[in-house]
Amino acid sequence: MISLIFGNLGSGKTASVVRAMTKTRIPVFSNIRCSGMDHVHVIEPDMLIKEKLLKVKKDGTPVNTIEFNEAFWKEKVQQLGSMHIVLDEFHLMMDARRPTAKINKIVADFLAMGRRIGQVNTEGEQGSFTLITQLERRVDIISKELATNVQWTIGHKRRACTKCDFSVWQTNEEPKQFFICPRCDANTKEVDWVVEIFLFQSYQAYMAFFHQGVRSYYFHGFIHDIASYFNRYDTRQWEDMLHNYY
Ligand SMILES: [Zn+2]
Repeated sequence: MISLIFGNLGSGKTASVVRAMTKTRIPVFSNIRCSGMDHVHVIEPDMLIKEKLLKVKKDGTPVNTIEFNEAFWKEKVQQLGSMHIVLDEFHLMMDARRPTAKINKIVADFLAMGRRIGQVNTEGEQGSFTLITQLERRVDIISKELATNVQWTIGHKRRACTKCDFSVWQTNEEPKQFFICPRCDANTKEVDWVVEIFLFQSYQAYMAFFHQGVRSYYFHGFIHDIASYFNRYDTRQWEDMLHNYY
């Protein structure tokens, strides 16, 4: 199963996934570094990418190419059974603007492992890929077509004045934020967070919601305890991690 998690900056999309990661019983591999979760493992570049000798030049210099490190994941599946793979900032890994890049091919091969990692284990839980991004348009069409779950995420925050009793709820999609109290000019601060999620069974259903206003979601709800997850993770930037290969 592939889940796509969309939402603009400040929506709480990553926090909502970290929250789900705390509730799973099977191993998770992710580029999100989590604290206090022994079942979550950080993905290192060599888990994805393997250098392979392409040819040797006449003067004896080796020329290497890179390919997907399939052996690593086959072994993990044998060891662990099913697992979750969670990739934050996914647009940095598989960018629709450079469809021929070697990294795109490697990530496509990784996603093709979905059937193996998605087997149901003894806990009755199915492994999955979860791909998180704020730049939906830059996600490759293959991932969109394979997705069987799409989440749209909206962050709601209440800002309160530090001096008077003014406070206001706003979403992350509103351009004007009340950093300064409109009543007394004192500073405001964020005091409450709620994350709203809509779930769709396919990318097509998600698009119908946005472009035709169809109520095509199968679930709509709110996460009220999201604030307790904000300090439990740190996303490792792919650009740093894979930058040698672009
Ligand atoms: Zn005030």
